[in-house]
Amino acid sequence: MRLVMVKSGNKASLPAVDMGDGTLQDISDLLKQPCDSRTDGTLDDIFRFHDPSVFREQLVSEINSLETIEADSYDVPLRNGDIICVGRNYAAHAKELNNPVPTEPVLFMKPRTCLLRDGGEIILHKDCLRVEYEGELALIIGKDIIGEISLEEAEAAIFGVTLLNDVTDRGKQSELKAAGKPWVAAKGRPTFAPCGPGIYMLNSYSELLEMGVETRVNGETRQRGTVGEWLWSPAQLIASIANTTGLHAGSIVATGTPSGVGTLAEGDRVEVFNDYIGTLANHVRLG
Ligand code: ZN
Repeated sequence: MRLVMVKSGNKASLPAVDMGDGTLQDISDLLKQPCDSRTDGTLDDIFRFHDPSVFREQLVSEINSLETIEADSYDVPLRNGDIICVGRNYAAHAKELNNPVPTEPVLFMKPRTCLLRDGGEIILHKDCLRVEYEGELALIIGKDIIGEISLEEAEAAIFGVTLLNDVTDRGKQSELKAAGKPWVAAKGRPTFAPCGPGIYMLNSYSELLEMGVETRVNGETRQRGTVGEWLWSPAQLIASIANTTGLHAGSIVATGTPSGVGTLAEGDRVEVFNDYIGTLANHVRLG
């Protein structure tokens, strides 16, 4: 099951569930129970006003009473959480950029202004030097975890998975790294975090360990990676981040990119793909 924010024509985005066969069912009413006045009809509500695992059970039990809806595009699944990113989680990617393989997770953040929906345009801003794609799996956190937690608690805190393209001005990042400055000006530009198209709700932690991610540019495969290649397991990553910044329910953790990063040019179509989540596709244009 995938949770999605869907758009139809000029109407406001609606929260929906995709049962896996492409049928979309409206979950707006379900989100309003039992906290009607506070909700704003987004998937973020699940993490602010519900216990996500209880909500999921309720969703399954009421699935047959939900209304089927039509949609023509997807919106960003979540807009309110922090976006924490892991750098160099694949040894081969660290090596291709001549970086040492790290001994603890390298963390940075992207601001929410970066978020871009499936189908939205990645902007090559006028002052960008060399912009690259980074296709990544992104974990959706289902509970507040701040401080020291066990690996079992970390596993249980992973609610779902989406896709995120950690678009990066590599030229700018190289300048910043050489000057010992933080990366935000290279990683944090508007439209630099395409995310979606939906959130796959994990049935088990072991299901996550079998997943992979693929990036294509203009139909040609450029990156392919699996969770099995990560330097840290998903639970190790989440426990480490919980103990460093802490994570709120509804936060997004981008888990690093496989080797094969490369430049984006005007007119390119970049797709990040995973069997469970689908395809996150974006075109590139000059700003
Ligand atoms: Zn990245």
